Amino acid sequence: EKTLHIVGGGMAGSEAAWQAANMGIKVVLHEMRPETGTFAHQTGNFGEMVCSNSFRSDDSEQNAVGLLHWEMRAANGLIMQTADQHRLPAGGALAVDREPFAEAVTAALKSHPNISTDYGEIAELPSEGMWIFATGPLTSPALGEAIAKETGTDRLAFFDAIAPIVYAESIDMDVAWLQSRYDKGETEEEQKAYLNCPMTKDQYEAFIDALLAADKTEFHEGETAGYFDGCLPIEVMAERGRETLRHGPMKPIGLTNAHRPEEKAYAVVQLRRDNKLGTLYNIVGFQTKMKYGAQAEVFKMIPGLENASFARLGGIHRNTFLNSPTLLDDQMRLKSRPNIRFAGQVTGVEGYVESAAMGLLAGRLAAAELSGRDMGPPPGSTAMGALIHHITGGAEAKTFQPMNVNFGLFPPLDGIRGGRKGRKERYKGYTDRAKEDFSQWLEGQS
Ligand code: FAD
Repeated sequence: EKTLHIVGGGMAGSEAAWQAANMGIKVVLHEMRPETGTFAHQTGNFGEMVCSNSFRSDDSEQNAVGLLHWEMRAANGLIMQTADQHRLPAGGALAVDREPFAEAVTAALKSHPNISTDYGEIAELPSEGMWIFATGPLTSPALGEAIAKETGTDRLAFFDAIAPIVYAESIDMDVAWLQSRYDKGETEEEQKAYLNCPMTKDQYEAFIDALLAADKTEFHEGETAGYFDGCLPIEVMAERGRETLRHGPMKPIGLTNAHRPEEKAYAVVQLRRDNKLGTLYNIVGFQTKMKYGAQAEVFKMIPGLENASFARLGGIHRNTFLNSPTLLDDQMRLKSRPNIRFAGQVTGVEGYVESAAMGLLAGRLAAAELSGRDMGPPPGSTAMGALIHHITGGAEAKTFQPMNVNFGLFPPLDGIRGGRKGRKERYKGYTDRAKEDFSQWLEGQS
């Protein structure tokens, strides 16, 4: 008997169970709730949304998360079809009535002839059988320890410290310049690994004022323990003294303004390449608990970023996640223990939709493997493919932090050039290409 064990009945585990079961595989879905809870979950239901009730934009022509919706619907995704049944009016967004939604996900899984459930915490990585771990950002502490033992403690994080990520094309290169501090590095690429934005004293003072005044998000109860090592929010640094940032992430030393070599910057904001494609840059050391609206305003005060578009904004959360680029193969299997796959937020994607999408893939890939069929992930030109390629290889491993789906992860399109003006046409180009490629990938499986 071919059985697939799935641990965690959240967004990813529920979707993985549904996909594998529909491919004829017997699934045991293990879930620790309601016996053992987390600080965020309230019920024992599968597919519980722990915070907002929104799956974000449903626009599959101009928005990467909307495209992910489209792909999941095309793949008979349980999370999407249940969301469609419990949809609430929310403009262009897909918002749902969360309780009936989770109850319907639970009912669909429980009534599936190929799925059985097993309630209780799993605290070890089993050496036999095929398993998917989809235990999410709030993976139970005992299991977290077992994972860290397998991966090494430096490859499993318990907090994210997300610095904002900017689309390279939206940075004003008449102001910013490429240079590593003290031109360090063996190759020219390394000597120019950072993008620098200079500030005068007045600009710095205004920036500090804005940071101090900005709206911040509170931590959830039980969320903060341990976050202060090495990832202080920038606004907390600013609160410690107006000069703290100038001696920390914004120090100007070892850098010469390529446009105006004679001008000594009072402070410098550095950005570092965030993916191998070079389409995304993160603002170094700028993890923050500022609210999203405030972040966009404050960061646009940085010279060179006045017109910045953000692929994602910053944050700090309790979040258990793997260093997937080093630990997982392109099938989401743990390289050191290939009978174990990971899926969902624990793989370093961020958000309900992204997590469910990674569950969809893991479920299909595991089911194919159990049936002795050859199946690869979808191509990198699709939203699902772009995400899985990013976490299993495209992202910079050293600075890996959780990622939302966004068009910066997509390979560029021939014939359509960058810039703000071409954006609408470019996004349509990306989504048209993705839909075609995703449909082809699906067809190849039936
Ligand atoms: P989950 O949905 O968390 O599912 C994991 C499941 O595994 C849980 O049911 C858990 O009980 C179970 N589990 C854990 N350990 C074990 C174990 N050892 N044995 C058995 N079962 C176990 N995303 C958004 O898109 N929008 C938001 O507004 C949002 N708000 C968030 C707020 C908080 C406080 C947190 C922590 C996260 C938030 N997220 C949000 C991220 C969100 O959690 C994820 O996007 C999504 O729920 C992750 O899906 P998942 O399946 O990976 O994990």
